[in-house]
Amino acid sequence: MKILVINAGSSSLKFQLIDMDNQEVIAKGLVERIGTVDPTTDLTYSWGDRKLKEIQLKKAADHAEAMAFVLDVLQGKDRTDLEVAPDDARGHLKGTGVIRDLKDIGAVGHRVLHGGEKFTASCLIDDACIKAIEENIPLGPLHNPANLMGIRACQKVLPDVPQVAVFDTAFHQTMPPKAYRYAIPTEYYTDLHIRKYGFHGTSHRYIAGRATELLKLPRNSRIIICHLGNGSSLSACVDGKCVDTTMGITPLDGLVMGTRCGTLDPAVVEFICNRRNMTPTEVLTMMNKKSGLLGLTGSSDMRDVTARYDAGEPEATLAIEMWSYVLKKYIGSFAAAMGGVDAIIFTAGIGENHVRAREWAVEGLEFMGIKVDHEKNAAARGEAKISADDSKVQVWVIPTNEELAIALDTLELSTKK
Ligand code: ADP
Repeated sequence: MKILVINAGSSSLKFQLIDMDNQEVIAKGLVERIGTVDPTTDLTYSWGDRKLKEIQLKKAADHAEAMAFVLDVLQGKDRTDLEVAPDDARGHLKGTGVIRDLKDIGAVGHRVLHGGEKFTASCLIDDACIKAIEENIPLGPLHNPANLMGIRACQKVLPDVPQVAVFDTAFHQTMPPKAYRYAIPTEYYTDLHIRKYGFHGTSHRYIAGRATELLKLPRNSRIIICHLGNGSSLSACVDGKCVDTTMGITPLDGLVMGTRCGTLDPAVVEFICNRRNMTPTEVLTMMNKKSGLLGLTGSSDMRDVTARYDAGEPEATLAIEMWSYVLKKYIGSFAAAMGGVDAIIFTAGIGENHVRAREWAVEGLEFMGIKVDHEKNAAARGEAKISADDSKVQVWVIPTNEELAIALDTLELSTKK
């Protein structure tokens, strides 16, 4: 069966078509500038070893129009409404087809940001599911409405195809109250559902599953998963189930990230509001979009920051020191929370690719039995064990695959009798 995985943002739509017989990505792409004031909508698309970059399409007024584009492209249907396109696509999109007709799409899986306390697992989309996603809009005010637009768009253009919602928060719902509650008056939890939810759950769950398959772990194994990308979070898992995570009611909490500040004293918000005549929303936007590595150095990209660290720039040096220090403190605190740790796993853009960042993360943790083998670490490609033979704790790199995890859930739920 072929499954279409959709990740809808407020003005964008990412898609991947996966053949579940061999788990191969048949085609993938990104539609941008949907329903914005820009004159065109942009499409980037790749299939097999071919790629079309930033084709400008006639304006898509909404996600349903963007989905109609996507379905035409997947079918290789002629479209003459391209505004600007690479030479081989000018005037038409012939040759992009990877399916004969829409019946080839067996199911659609949607990434949904916030499932609140309602969703502990993925669910087949029906009216009740949509209502519950709507009820969680206050918790995910930017993402959930966009995710709903993606769902409604697919319902419109693929009315007979089963759809599944996969939540970024669901994996973390196994956390105990002592980990997820904040020590503020109980009414804020009971009335407003203020608590830690955690994010990147699809990635953490996929990695926890792969770790169970790959690592020979003892019963009640304790692992720490380090999802280090532009957004970053850790999870502490006992027996594959999440017992703690670094992100909170929103993805702002925890580690120093590309553009997010991570943990700080919440009193900073009022302080800045008063001194700079800013609203709390403006301060939070600054903390989400202009902070972290970007705020400290002017670049959110770990490769740039590392190059400047190597050149001895003081801002980059401090940023790398802070990034590593905060990460190391969380690794230590999660090990303490679980009464030890059997394995540490690195994943996502930085975790999978940045050799030195993995060493910075655990440097000085030999006292906890954590020892990385420099050569194995430098040589790691794909799934690889990078701990020294005498390390008590196994250290691994495991590439994440959120789209595949979404597709696997979609396959399971859409074919369940
Ligand atoms: P997102 O959260 O946007 O999905 P990614 O998981 O793609 O982020 O991670 C992006 C981060 O990964 C960036 O900071 C980037 O610098 C870093 N990164 C990607 N490739 C490499 C590489 N080869 N070496 C070092 N860092 C890398």
